[in-house]
Amino acid sequence: MSLTNNIRMLMDIQDSNVIFEEDFLQTGTFKGKKCKFINGKLSYTPTHCEVCGIENQNFTIYKNGTQTSRITLPYHGIYPAYLLLKKQRFMCKSCEYSFTAQTSVVKKNCG
Ligand SMILES: [Zn+2]
Repeated sequence: MSLTNNIRMLMDIQDSNVIFEEDFLQTGTFKGKKCKFINGKLSYTPTHCEVCGIENQNFTIYKNGTQTSRITLPYHGIYPAYLLLKKQRFMCKSCEYSFTAQTSVVKKNCG
């Protein structure tokens, strides 16, 4: 089983678009308290533009930066744990609007 699969299982993440790399775990402080940060990435190729609905053909939608969300994990260790999820941003050539990769891990407009 891969590292990503193991971490997904540990944190009950069912979204296969979320990946983790070897240096995923960091310790730090948040709001003055010691905590753990788990770094993940969310990326995929969208089939449609989420704004205008156009089909993604011939790179109509291209990758354009990332946006990081901090998600509190329901993990009961000594220190609180947060998932820092770097979400892919996309730009649509057709409507010229951008949108962020969506995941069931994070509720929309939440961070
Ligand atoms: Zn569009």
